Amino acid sequence: MTLRTQNYSIDILVQGFPGKTVCHGGLGWSTVALLRGYDRVVLIDAGGFNMRGVIVEQLKERGLTTADVTDVILTHAHYDHSINWIMFPKARVYIGSAELAWAAAQPIGHTLIPELYIRELKVSPQLIVLKEGQEVVPGITTYDSPGHTPGHMMFYLAGGDRDVLFTGDCAKNRAEILSRSVDMTMDEDASRRTVERVWELWTKRSYTLLVPGHDIPMILKDGVPTYIEGRRAGLAAWFGEKLETTTLFELKAPA
Ligand SMILES: [Zn+2]
Repeated sequence: MTLRTQNYSIDILVQGFPGKTVCHGGLGWSTVALLRGYDRVVLIDAGGFNMRGVIVEQLKERGLTTADVTDVILTHAHYDHSINWIMFPKARVYIGSAELAWAAAQPIGHTLIPELYIRELKVSPQLIVLKEGQEVVPGITTYDSPGHTPGHMMFYLAGGDRDVLFTGDCAKNRAEILSRSVDMTMDEDASRRTVERVWELWTKRSYTLLVPGHDIPMILKDGVPTYIEGRRAGLAAWFGEKLETTTLFELKAPA
């Protein structure tokens, strides 16, 4: 589904998923959003390794290649959002200055930071660091949103007819937004304040679209966060004896 604001068309290339594994660590199925407008081809977050093929395919369906992407805007440095910045050789790559400084200072081998990719980004001519209140690309402003990580940023698109708020992982899914409490935060108080700020920004104008880091985009209908499209997620498992035989697990909320 392509959404339109006055100046951008927005496609969710990869839909975020609100869940974690039972015994395989983090799942990392994050949102990758494509914005086209003002002669720019912008990605908000770039997904993890597993999404590389999907991103190439999704761009191709829209007549684009990775070399056409002009701007990659990262909400934070976790691997499932940041690692693929390196796929886009011609893009400016943006990340919060506090986030980059923090991520680059983390010990090797202990966190969800892709250390070598962050090290590479830090010295890349593609890098542009962000501060709060900056206009990243036309119409899109940065907001500090610490908690999940110390220098996390969210992005607000003033779209004319419709505004769009990209929260990344500062509010990852519908349950976090509704309950105003979050899973996986480095600072609970900061996260609580950040989620309040998400609500302030979301309710500033009617029909503002909220695009979370690990869920489907939502709008407020009579004050209730409501998904604007269906969920696409599942697993196909080889539990049998033939390669052709797979068992499908659709990952949907029970009816
Ligand atoms: Zn994260």
